[in-house]
Amino acid sequence: MEVPEEIVCVDCGQRAHRLSYPPEEGWQIGDYVAYRCSGCNDRWDLVVEDSDDPNSASHSYAAEARSILESRRTSPERPAE
Ligand SMILES: [Zn+2]
Repeated sequence: MEVPEEIVCVDCGQRAHRLSYPPEEGWQIGDYVAYRCSGCNDRWDLVVEDSDDPNSASHSYAAEARSILESRRTSPERPAE
């Protein structure tokens, strides 16, 4: 799998450079790749996806990062106590 050296930050439009180095065996689907924005200094953690998957072809890496961040901020349903 190939991952981009940099992405465009969806918050400020600046370039976000990759922090993570490729593993010796190469990137695998499901690996986390960290980026640091040169503009707003936000960190983006992306998941390597199968680019052949038609379901993932239309959304960008940045959109994927956003969805990850949102899912972390939003706590899952709490069981009633
Ligand atoms: Zn930014």
